[in-house]
Amino acid sequence: MATLETQPLYIDGRRVDATSGETFDTVNPANGEVLARVQQASREDIDRAVASARRGQQVWAAMTGMERSRILLRAVALLRERNDELAQLETLDTGKPISETQAVDVVTGADSLEYYAGLAPAIEGTQIPLREDSFVYTRREPLGVIGAIGAWNYPIQIACWKSAPALAAGNAVVFKPSEVTPLTTLKLAEIFTEAGLPDGVFNVVHGDGRVGELLTHHADIDKITFTGEAGTGKKVMSAAAGSTLKEVTMELGGKSPLIVFDDADLDRAADAAMIANFYSSGQVCTNGTRVFVHRSIKSAFEARIKERVERIRAGDPLDPNVNFGPLVSFEHLEKVQGYIDLGKQEGARVLVGGERWNDGDFADGAWAAPTVFTDCRDDMRIVREEIFGPVMSILVFDDEDEVVRRANDTTYGLAAGLFSESLNRSHRVIHRLQAGICWINTWGDSPAEMPVGGYKESGIGRENGLSSLDQYTQIKSVQVEM
Ligand code: NAD
Repeated sequence: MATLETQPLYIDGRRVDATSGETFDTVNPANGEVLARVQQASREDIDRAVASARRGQQVWAAMTGMERSRILLRAVALLRERNDELAQLETLDTGKPISETQAVDVVTGADSLEYYAGLAPAIEGTQIPLREDSFVYTRREPLGVIGAIGAWNYPIQIACWKSAPALAAGNAVVFKPSEVTPLTTLKLAEIFTEAGLPDGVFNVVHGDGRVGELLTHHADIDKITFTGEAGTGKKVMSAAAGSTLKEVTMELGGKSPLIVFDDADLDRAADAAMIANFYSSGQVCTNGTRVFVHRSIKSAFEARIKERVERIRAGDPLDPNVNFGPLVSFEHLEKVQGYIDLGKQEGARVLVGGERWNDGDFADGAWAAPTVFTDCRDDMRIVREEIFGPVMSILVFDDEDEVVRRANDTTYGLAAGLFSESLNRSHRVIHRLQAGICWINTWGDSPAEMPVGGYKESGIGRENGLSSLDQYTQIKSVQVEM
C-alpha cells in the first residue's frame, strides 16, 4: 500500500489530475515499499502545461529583474526552512542517506537559486559604436518556454539547477522529473507558487521517457535542458533538432579519471577516492571511477582504501549515522551487480567487497556492496563503461605522459582530478586532461559559482556559474541611425 497520497501533475500554479488515467509507483529502495502512486502525463496534459508556461512566461518576463529576484529569494528562504522535510522525502525516494540529503541536496539547490536570483537584475546588453551617427545596442531576451528533463540521482537539486538560470532570465519551465524519483519536484513547484511565482512559470509533468519525448518534439518549446545518460541524450538532441531546431543543454554521464601521483598526500587522496566512488552509493555523474595510482605507491594506497571501505556505515538511510544507502532501484541494482560479476569474469582482482548483499538487514533493499577492483586494464568494460554504482577500478601507471594519454582515452569528458604536492605538475597535467570539471587535491564540490558540464560525450553547455545565463537568453542586436 502506498504511504503517501497520489502525486498529480502541477500546471498553471496548481495540482492537476492527469488525463491519461495511467499511474506508476515510486518505491523506497531501502525496503521495497511503494511510497506513492504517480500520475503519468498525457499528450493533452503536456499541451496544457506548455500553453500555461507560454502565458506565464509573458507575465514573468514583463517583470523587472529586481522583482523576479525577490520572488526567487523567497523561494530560497522556503527551501531552507523546509530543508529537513524535503531531505526526508528525498531520502525515502532515492535511498540516499539522510546525512547527505540534509546537508547537500536541498542546500545546493537553494544555493543555485540564490546565486541566479542575485544575477537576475544584472542581465545586461552591450553598446557597440559604429560611426558618429550610428550604433548598435544588444538586448538579452529570454528564450521562452524551457522543457527540462531530470535524472534520478539528485532530483530536487537538478530541478533547482535547471530552473534557476532559466527563471532568473525570464523563461518559464515545464519540468519532467525522473519517473524513479518524482516526489520532491512537486514540493518545489508548490514552494515557487507560495513565493509568488506567477501561475504557469514552473510546471511539473510526471512520467517516463514517453513524456520526455513529447517535450523534446513539442513545437512550442524553445529549448530542452536534459540530465541523464549519454545514450538518452543523443535521442533527446536529435528529437530537439528534428522537430523545431531547439537549443539544448546536455548534462550526461562520465567515467572520470582520478590520478594519484607518487608525491601525493596519500591519506587525502584515499579520502577523495572514497568520496569519488562511494558517496551516494556511487550514483554521482562526476565520479572518479578510474583511479590511476603510481606504481610506487600502489600497495600503500590500496591498504588505505581497504581500511576505509571497511569503515563504511551502511544501513537505514533515515539513520543519521549511516553514510551508505541502497541503490536507487531494484532495476538499477541488476545493472550494477551485472558489472560486479563482469569485473570478476574480466580478471580484475577484488580488493574489497564484490559479494552480494541480500540477507539480514539488507534482504529487502536494493543493496550493492561497496566494491574495489584492482589490477584493472584499460580495455576492461568495468573500466570503460559508466556503472553508476559503488564500484572503483584501480589502475597502475608509471609516468605522466602515459597517464594523461590513458586518462583521456574515453568517449566521456565530464570530470577529472589529481593528487600531487607539485604545483607545476598539478596545473600542467590538469590542463592536458579533457574534462569540464577538474579538481586538484580535492574531489566533488560543486558550488553554484562553478560552471559544471562535460567535454566530448559528457555534454553540451554548462550548469551553474555566470555562463549558464547565456544559455537561457538570446541576443537581439538593434542598429540605430541618428
Ligand atoms: P536516463 O537517461 O535513463 O533518464 C534521464 C531522463 O530522461 C529521465 O527523466 C527519463 O524519463 C528521460 N527519458 C528517457 N528516455 C527519453 C527519451 N527518449 N526522450 C526524452 N526523455 C527521455 O538517465 P538516469 O538513469 O535517470 O540518470 C543517470 C544518468 O544521468 C547517468 O548517466 C549520469 O551520469 C547522468 N547524470 C549526469 C549529470 C550531469 O550533470 N552531467 C548529473 C546527474 C546524472
